[in-house]
Amino acid sequence: MTAAYAGTIYEASGCEIRITIKIAFSGADNATIQAWVKDIESVWNGYTYGDCKCPVKVSVDWKSITGSCEQNPQPGYHCIDVTQDYAHDTAGKIYRGYMKGVSAKGTDTLGWWSLHMNEPLPGVQGTIHDAAHEAGHMLGLQDDYNATSNTYGENIMGLTWGDKAKPIQAQINKIVETNLGSNACQKQCCCGNKKIDEGEECDPSVKPTGCEEGALCVSCKCFVIIEPKCGDGKVNGNEECDYKSSNNTCKQGEECNSDCKCVKIESNFKITITDPEDGETIDDVIYVKAKVEGNESEIEKVKFYVDGESVYTDEEEPWKWQLDPEEFDEGEHTIKVRAYDKEGNTTEDEIEIEIVYSS
Ligand SMILES: [Zn+2]
Repeated sequence: MTAAYAGTIYEASGCEIRITIKIAFSGADNATIQAWVKDIESVWNGYTYGDCKCPVKVSVDWKSITGSCEQNPQPGYHCIDVTQDYAHDTAGKIYRGYMKGVSAKGTDTLGWWSLHMNEPLPGVQGTIHDAAHEAGHMLGLQDDYNATSNTYGENIMGLTWGDKAKPIQAQINKIVETNLGSNACQKQCCCGNKKIDEGEECDPSVKPTGCEEGALCVSCKCFVIIEPKCGDGKVNGNEECDYKSSNNTCKQGEECNSDCKCVKIESNFKITITDPEDGETIDDVIYVKAKVEGNESEIEKVKFYVDGESVYTDEEEPWKWQLDPEEFDEGEHTIKVRAYDKEGNTTEDEIEIEIVYSS
């Protein structure tokens, strides 16, 4: 941050160049000051610096002070003593009450501050921009006119009215380079500058961005948008699982099928109740026996159920459970066996029996 003139602050913030003109006014009412500030900000904004078009934002940080700038010095501010000066009135004092501006650094930003600086003048089309011209001095620019030879530069430092009363790019460049150097707008600032620069695949501020259809431009690089779908390795939306995912989201004993639904793993073994027979009447203590066919050696346990309630777990062959009919009510019952292998796969068989108490 360098300040060629007291009271003007220059900052390169990311890809934005910010210039703050700090002005203390003595002797003017707030409405007048605000009108000047509005004029300065409207004339000096809308410009960019560098190939990557970093926006140059100019703002005025103002305050009103009591007493003159000499009596009440304002370090860090340009200070303007707004005083009537009819001596410079050339169009009649009814319209033009000039005021003399004195900067905090003596004559550096000497200017003439008028109550009518941004109002129409007799014989002049449109608004005049004297305040914006004086702000140009606060940004380090010199006058660009010679009243004696009647030559006026076609810019805000030469003319303060008409459509030429604005900065030219060379003036913006000079202000930025003098205070922030020629690297104030870095190459990476080119992303988002409304054109696809060298080294960029695309630019999000350009339509089309430069990416292929369906690809997204992020930080001036193209990214292919992947529609979530079954088999992309991620469990999306209404999928229970994804068969390409290393993370199995299905319950134990289930696997992910090609539709990304969890399905029971088909058991490669079978259990059968060998005794008693389906429909048999039981009136004495017996063994309920089952046999497993398939991967017998992988079977971890067999559970026995009566009417859906677990009554016994057998952990070694032969698979059997002693049934005492007197422990159950007389009548029809369902006997079920379920075999578990070491991976949690299961298979079942069931039969109906009738219990009758022996007399
Ligand atoms: Zn001037």
